[in-house]
Amino acid sequence: MENSVTVLGTRGSVPVSGASFSRFGGATTCVLVRMAGQFIILDAGTGILALPKEALSQPSLSLILSHPHADHIIGLAMCPYLFKADARMDIYGARRGGLNAREQISRIFSPPVWPVDMDALPADVRFFDMERSFKIGGVRVDTMEGEHPGGVSLIRLCGEDKSVVFITDCTLTDARFPEISEFSRDCDLLLCDGQYSEEQWRQRRTFGHSTWTAAAKLARSAGASKARMIHHDPERTDDELLKEAGGLLNIHPDCSFAFEGEVIPL
Ligand SMILES: [Zn+2]
Ligand SMILES: [Zn+2]
Repeated sequence: MENSVTVLGTRGSVPVSGASFSRFGGATTCVLVRMAGQFIILDAGTGILALPKEALSQPSLSLILSHPHADHIIGLAMCPYLFKADARMDIYGARRGGLNAREQISRIFSPPVWPVDMDALPADVRFFDMERSFKIGGVRVDTMEGEHPGGVSLIRLCGEDKSVVFITDCTLTDARFPEISEFSRDCDLLLCDGQYSEEQWRQRRTFGHSTWTAAAKLARSAGASKARMIHHDPERTDDELLKEAGGLLNIHPDCSFAFEGEVIPL
């Protein structure tokens, strides 16, 4: 199996739909990483509904959650893999707000907010408290805490000499930039929250996200081979993102806004 990353959901905060979003996509954050023979999903936004056949046919899948905000877990409600009786999903998440990952997810997936809880689904779902470093088969997972209301785990996956860094829902403050840049050092692919324009940023500094300019500068500083901006703002149309794409290339030679369905070889 070739090492690659498939971006299944690019949108931040809430899903969007309509002709203005058809190029970059409307589903919320979800990324499928194929590395060292493993299929590892990062976040379970509505993009998880588009898991490809090769992933759906695996006897087990791993899901790592950056944090439990609704846009990053809401896809679990209709995730096709969880409706298979012969499937097993291992879900890794950090304790937040005094709750483990199972309890966080149950806040949404239990009556009266949702008709069934996760335990009622056919698949065998197992939860694990996420350690700072752990292994999934031949993939080493390292995490560090980012800057976001309620907290967020930044995730680095390494296997077969390839590395992917996933930084969603994080403010790249001046104070944290050096540390986050070191965490991302020399990765093959950096996926980074680039939700805002500079203009939006001025009004939304405390919302826990970054500008695409700051994200591209992180890619440059860290020496990432490739970088893709994720968590696009729900207001940001295809035309607006296309207009800004050239500016990213001025900062890093292989840096662009991720689009839904994009497959990136490692
Ligand atoms: Zn989010
Ligand atoms: Zn969030």
